[in-house]
Amino acid sequence: MLIDTHIHLSYHPFDQGFPYIAREKDAFVIRRGSREDVIREIRAAGTAACIDPAVDLGSNEKLLALAEQYPGFIFPAVGVHPTRVFQAAEKGKDGRMSGRKRFAQFLEHPAVIAVGETGLDYHLARKEQHRLRQIIWFIRQLKAAHRKGLPVILHIREAHEDALRILRRYRNCLHGGVCHCFRGSADEARSYTELGLMLGIGGSLLKDAPGTAALEQAVIMTPLDRILLETDGPYVRPENPGFPNKQWEKARNTSLILPAVAARIAELKSVPPEEVERVTAENAVRVFRLPPLGEV
Ligand SMILES: [Zn+2]
Repeated sequence: MLIDTHIHLSYHPFDQGFPYIAREKDAFVIRRGSREDVIREIRAAGTAACIDPAVDLGSNEKLLALAEQYPGFIFPAVGVHPTRVFQAAEKGKDGRMSGRKRFAQFLEHPAVIAVGETGLDYHLARKEQHRLRQIIWFIRQLKAAHRKGLPVILHIREAHEDALRILRRYRNCLHGGVCHCFRGSADEARSYTELGLMLGIGGSLLKDAPGTAALEQAVIMTPLDRILLETDGPYVRPENPGFPNKQWEKARNTSLILPAVAARIAELKSVPPEEVERVTAENAVRVFRLPPLGEV
């Protein structure tokens, strides 16, 4: 049983027809299909549940609708991604609600299992980062998760120092959660696990990139009961196995890469891949308090 703890299935790159990454005989292939095709295929391949986290404020509506369509399979996390907070209006006007009120309303949906993506992202040029608003929305979402007793899905990019300072200060607000798409060092990994958080590991581990060696060390040093599998689909593809670059970059990443991620973790930790799949799925059920999942 596999659980994809981070895939944006309701997001617009999965609207209409598109190319996506699939797996055949232990190799990546590219297929064309629709959102329904992908969902059918990932279920058939052994994915028992997917968590779909919010990106911009408007994406919450779509992901709640998709979760209603696939109850017990797609679990929604509501929030605002740090790079999108500047779009969320602080004040309601012309009959529209403020971003904060809309977020509070999404949080009331009974299917919601977490708050996120929230966190800090300092990747863009400083003047486009809106750091203050990122911090306001980060703390706002941590407090909202606390009020509801929900775990958080964290997106932290090039901002570990500030993010860890805030997380330590609001430590009492934490009800578990995950540092998603983790690609830091073993030391950074420990900083998050010491706060009771998990590491979300996905396609980054299958990349031939400068940071991969440090990430491998972090995976080796982190106990398996602190690791969750994820894809961040449609993003964070594994290394291109030889397709023309343009073709590979257009292909949406999907949960079909999870067995390859589990196999790489198994190799690094010298344990059987089945154990990685089982333990990480148990971790996901525990952290996100998922109901019993139908075996597929
Ligand atoms: Zn994401």
